[in-house]
Amino acid sequence: MDFEPAGQLPILDDSAIKRVLCVVAHPDDMEYGASAVVAEWASKGIEVGYLLLTSGEAGIRSLAPAAAGPLRAEEQRRACEIVGVADLAILDFPDGLLEPGLALRERIARHIRRFKPDVVMTMTWDLETPWGINHVDHRVAGLAVVDAIRDADNPWLFRTQRTDEGSETWAVSLLLVAGSQDTHAIPVSKQSVDLAVASLGAHEAYLAALPIHPPPDELVTSILARTGKAARSDHALGVRSIRMG
Ligand SMILES: [Zn+2]
Repeated sequence: MDFEPAGQLPILDDSAIKRVLCVVAHPDDMEYGASAVVAEWASKGIEVGYLLLTSGEAGIRSLAPAAAGPLRAEEQRRACEIVGVADLAILDFPDGLLEPGLALRERIARHIRRFKPDVVMTMTWDLETPWGINHVDHRVAGLAVVDAIRDADNPWLFRTQRTDEGSETWAVSLLLVAGSQDTHAIPVSKQSVDLAVASLGAHEAYLAALPIHPPPDELVTSILARTGKAARSDHALGVRSIRMG
């Protein structure tokens, strides 16, 4: 598979976007470039929410899950503050053991119905990615998001007898996938790049425990500069844009 941007990537028209829900498996998943776009959107008044499916409690080898979960959730809250995300929800599915299934789809679908986003953003569910074999939780999360978008708009799925929150259908019009084969680029300002770098830096304990990790500024800047080149701007995030409605 060729993940190099082949020629020029069209710019995604985000002028009509009002609300975006980002659904990922772990704390830090949004912070490898995607949070630059979040910062860019937030600065334009677009409402962005994060839904994390786990608290990443099994992500630090030297720290037991009971301590790592709350710590990583706190680091994610700081990362969200930096890029202007006020709405952060963290579900309690088990980190590293995320399973596809109706329970996962239902929780995501109900959250979509509550948050009412026009756009959902998630990470690639491909097995092979430019950075190696994709983590099982990312693969499961991505596919569950695709299915939950459909579920959220089906009046016969995941309803309760009462018309309570999370039962009313909601149609998401666009799915954006980061880390897949890009169809579009979203240019971001230098300020948004700096905020994205800081948002990755907020995962302090997590990054400190990794054996090798490039400095956040180097890593995030290089990811965004690479797509920027293909989009004729200094920095941009590459996304696969999939029309859902
Ligand atoms: Zn992850």
